[in-house]
Amino acid sequence: MNEIILLKLGEVVLKGLNRRSFEDKLLSNIRRRLQHYGSFNVYSKQSTIYVEPQKGGCDLEGAYAACRQVFGIIAATRARFCPKDKDAIFHCAKHYLDAELRAAKTFKVETKRADKQFPMNSMEISQYVGGLLHEEYPHLKVDVHKPELCVHVEVREKAAYVHGPSQPGAGGLPIGMGGTAVSLLSGGIDSPVSSYMIAKRGVQLELVHFFSPPYTSQQALDKVKELAKELVPWCGRMTLHIVPFTEIQEAIRRDCPEEYFTLIMRRFMMRLAERVARRTGAKALVTGESLGQVASQTMDALAVSDAVCSLPVLRPVIGMDKQEIVLISRKIGTFDTSILPFEDCCTVFTPRHPRTHPVLEDVVGFESALDIEGLTQRAVDGIERVTINL
Ligand code: ATP
Ligand code: MG
Repeated sequence: MNEIILLKLGEVVLKGLNRRSFEDKLLSNIRRRLQHYGSFNVYSKQSTIYVEPQKGGCDLEGAYAACRQVFGIIAATRARFCPKDKDAIFHCAKHYLDAELRAAKTFKVETKRADKQFPMNSMEISQYVGGLLHEEYPHLKVDVHKPELCVHVEVREKAAYVHGPSQPGAGGLPIGMGGTAVSLLSGGIDSPVSSYMIAKRGVQLELVHFFSPPYTSQQALDKVKELAKELVPWCGRMTLHIVPFTEIQEAIRRDCPEEYFTLIMRRFMMRLAERVARRTGAKALVTGESLGQVASQTMDALAVSDAVCSLPVLRPVIGMDKQEIVLISRKIGTFDTSILPFEDCCTVFTPRHPRTHPVLEDVVGFESALDIEGLTQRAVDGIERVTINL
């Protein structure tokens, strides 16, 4: 087939002296991601990553889609390669892009010449190949400014490459370069999106989910596992820490004033997430909170929940409207699972009139009725860990 995948590096190229380690991480992330699709040779040269099928039986289509979900890549294209010869390039373009050339009304050829030994310059190559294509497809008009189809020719070290327009990649930075964070994953729309957004900045995630059987069902837990799985193509393999939360919720309901249920529950979530962070070497927590969305997401309420933990709490959707969050959740493929109607532990024991402007000292006072250390420790001891992979 002589077909390969070319990937363009994103922000990685701005990393100066660290660039090498960023690139190495990106290459190893791509290699791991492509294991399911056959045997590929993956290497980088001149800000381009080459993904070459090694033998027959490679699923190039699948590999291409997978590469477009790897953070650190800004654009991707499939390309045909041929010998570095002007007529070979023309024939390659004609056969590889025949359907596109027939369908388009206007076109141009754009050439990049990395191999300065090649006897023609970029302009000459474009004119030569463009001229022959024009004869072959007489309906086409040349439009150098806004062509419907741009035929790209790249003359590089080993071969010449021909391809049509490239498609956007996932952007961001390679997973693992930004350290590790613990993301609190509920079954809702927001937390899968916030997980995705932090992973996009190069962060490996540990997922934490709190569940409260029998108040929350097995189906609700399966839904969260499904959401975690849907995040894997973006975020890579992850561990889901499933934390038993029933005893804590029942204790809060028994011993604390109703208006403070949610807030005190959220403080336990932060304490427990921080314990997971300490165990896994994570340097921050991530939540899907958005300012003002519910009573526990006012500035006063956020301050009260932050006060129990010493790690930074990253809230990437804090300034986003629900509609904006939904758009991302559709794009990354978690929306349909998120809207399945299973209850979350946040939706059991919800107060009728939750406090929107709590005062920290009051909350600490109400919490003193609880055996905070014992409750936290028993929940930590009951954590079940599941590896989430493709
Ligand atoms: P989501 O749509 O993600 O459920 P939400 O807007 O419904 O978020 P809340 O239910 O108040 O908000 O929860 C706020 C955040 O707290 C969530 O985005 C998530 O990060 C975390 N969270 C809530 N419930 C759980 C849970 N059962 N397990 C883990 N994290 C949770
Ligand atoms: Mg929720």
